[in-house]
Amino acid sequence: MDESLIKKLIASIKCGSCGQNYQEDNIEVMEHNDELWFLKVSCSSCHVKCVVAAIIRENARPEVVTDLTEAEMEKFKHLESIKDEDLLEMHGFLKDFDGDFPHLFRQE
Ligand SMILES: [Zn+2]
Repeated sequence: MDESLIKKLIASIKCGSCGQNYQEDNIEVMEHNDELWFLKVSCSSCHVKCVVAAIIRENARPEVVTDLTEAEMEKFKHLESIKDEDLLEMHGFLKDFDGDFPHLFRQE
């Protein structure tokens, strides 16, 4: 995926504060790895800045997330490690799980 295409995609979304479309000139790629792109955008109309995360998969609709909090950015950045931890957790869970689904679902 090429940078100018990403910028075009981001330019098609609207500023959360004033509703103006972002301009390609005001979009800066912060970093990207594989499908995940982080872009810094500033609105040409009201000058509000925000971070946009876009997940671009081939043959799929791109997903765009705007107004990320810092915590969410960290989460995205560490997506791979989160997945590993989740797998380990699931593994441990299944090892101890006795098959009592009704009991499991009663737990809040
Ligand atoms: Zn704006």
